[in-house]
Parts: sequence; C-alpha cells; structure tokens
Amino acid sequence: MLLLGLPLLIILVIIASWYLAEKAIQPVYKSYQEMQQFSSDVAHELRTPLSAIKATIDSVILNNLTLQDSQETLKIIHRQNERLINLVKDLLILTRLDSVLENNYQISKTKINLLDLINDLVEELSCLALENNVNLRQEIKTNNDIFIFGNEEQIYRLLTNLTINAIENNQKNGQVIIFLETDKQEVIIKVIDTGIGINNTEQKLIFNRFYRINKARNRDKGGSGLGLSIVRSIVLNHHGKIAVESRENEGSTFIIYLPKIIEKS
Ligand code: ADP
Repeated sequence: MLLLGLPLLIILVIIASWYLAEKAIQPVYKSYQEMQQFSSDVAHELRTPLSAIKATIDSVILNNLTLQDSQETLKIIHRQNERLINLVKDLLILTRLDSVLENNYQISKTKINLLDLINDLVEELSCLALENNVNLRQEIKTNNDIFIFGNEEQIYRLLTNLTINAIENNQKNGQVIIFLETDKQEVIIKVIDTGIGINNTEQKLIFNRFYRINKARNRDKGGSGLGLSIVRSIVLNHHGKIAVESRENEGSTFIIYLPKIIEKS
C-alpha cells in the first residue's frame, strides 16, 4: 500500500500545486498583458501625429521654404499638435480615474444640481450642434431640482463626451436630446441621437480604450478613441451604471444611472 500510495500521493500533490499555481498566476499574467497592450496602443497613437509633424517639417527644410510659403505646413503641424495635446490630456484623465478606482481613493465630491449642469452644457455645445446642422435640446421629466453627490468636473466631462459624440455621429438635420428623469433611488440621464447608430458587435467594443468604429473618420475629427473609456470610468467612480441601445442608421441612446440624493422631508 505504502509503496504504491506514496508515489501516487506525490503525483497528486504535484498536479494540485501546478493547477493552483497556474490559477493564482492567471490574474497577474492578464493584467501584465493588458499593461503591455495599453503601452503598445499608446506608443502607436503617439507615433502617428509625431511622424506627421516630422514629415511636414522635413518637407519645409528640404524645399528651403520661407515662413511665408509655409502657412499650410504650419496649419498641419498645428492640427497634429492639437491631436497630441488632446491625446495626452485624455490619457492623464484616464490614468487618474483608474488610480482612484484601483486604490479606492476618495475623489472630492459635492452636491450637484443636474438641471443647472445640463443647462450649462446645452448652452456650451449649441454652437457645435449648429455647425453640424443638428438640433440639440434638453427634456427634463420633473418639476423639482435633481441633485446627485459627485465630482462636478467629472460629471460635466461625462455628459460633454456623450453629447459631442451624439452631435458628431449624427445625420444632417438630426436631433440630440439630453433627457433626465428620476425614480425612487436613481437619476436616469439619456443622451439620445438620431445618428448613424452602432451595430450590436461594436456596441460591446466601443468602451475599450482606443477603439474607434471608423478609424480614419474619427482620427480626422481629432478623437483619441478614449472618450467612452473615460465616460465608463467616471460612471464607475460614481457607483453608477451605463448602457447603450442603438440601431444602425436610426440612432443611439446612452443611458446613465446614478445614485440620487434623497432629500428628507
Ligand atoms: P473618441 O474619443 O475618439 O470620440 P469614443 O471612445 O468616444 O472615441 O468613441 C468610440 C467609437 O464609438 C468612435 O469610433 C465613435 O465614432 C463611436 N461612437 C461613439 N458615440 C457614438 C454615437 N452616439 N453614435 C455612433 N457612433 C458613436
């Protein structure tokens, strides 16, 4: 028994330890792979505008152009530079949001009046809507003020990102509605558009970092592909939920659920 049992037990222990070690290392390996993927995506995103700037400057030097002849070139450099600045800004915001989530830090939060915030947002983005031939309006389904507890700058950023996407991915003479309602516990904000829509497969991918549906079109507009990742991180930092409903060529609705401040009467 001993002669047969002991080697069998050793083999069993080896298999079990190997299995447990494999299981324990998996999350570490996964986060290492994600980090590697993220660094390589960042490098790729930075390389494109930097290469464009270098090629443009090279052409000025090679052709001995004067400053007067170089106005178009300067405009290209300016545009690429804006892209770089936006990308770095978005990356900074995202890494700060991640570090708050991972380390359970507290962000500074105050009582926010959502009606005031949406009014400001519609006022600020009305010019962009006009430029894109889109009608932007708000639809508030309550007579009372609605308050949430949150970081005002982040909530403003969240709604700005969703509304700019809704305007820029719309059709001519399209509509964008910022809709607000509440139930007992939650505030429900919807950003509804009558735009190009998103198919079912891409609805699952659009919140991934650097994911763009139409890469060339999106890059031209200066998007970093990080807008919806930032939106999702802000929602998580406010203990909320986000959902998307969309049909191609009919439009999309992004729905945010946030905990409401319940006023004691
Ligand atoms: P970016 O920061 O470049 O705008 P996002 O992360 O905000 O990127 O969006 C990811 C992709 O989802 C983009 O390709 C964008 O065009 C698409 N998208 C986002 N919102 C909408 C919408 N309302 N309708 C159609 N496509 C959208």
